[in-house]
Amino acid sequence: MDNCLFCRIVNREIPSRIVYEDDLVLGFYDIQPKSPVHVLLIPKEHIGSFNELTRDHDRLMAHLTAHIPIVAEKLGIKNSGYRVVVNCGRDSGQEVAHLHYHILGGRPMENNFG
Ligand code: AMP
Repeated sequence: MDNCLFCRIVNREIPSRIVYEDDLVLGFYDIQPKSPVHVLLIPKEHIGSFNELTRDHDRLMAHLTAHIPIVAEKLGIKNSGYRVVVNCGRDSGQEVAHLHYHILGGRPMENNFG
């Protein structure tokens, strides 16, 4: 989508620090990290949020999800542990309407989901 920030990152119209890429997904560092390691993992295809998923996305989402531990290993946080966050819609605070996993690690975290 033309006016989607993450589509523009996929298309290299906006620079990012890429940590993983294949033909279906892209992983890049969050510009405002909430932990020492904070990477966003996204499908290259524009999907606005979890609410837009259909069964047609099953294989893509399996591929995306399977790459969470692969990216975590590349980041050196696979064994120390990490948190995966998905925001969906207004009350979650979702800012960018392109489905993304936050992968957060590099420090101990509390179970505070406020
Ligand atoms: P969310 O609130 O779940 O939609 O998360 C959007 C995330 O995108 C936030 O953590 C932002 O810091 C991050 N973000 C916004 N612009 C950029 C950018 N140009 N490059 C990397 N991350 C970004």
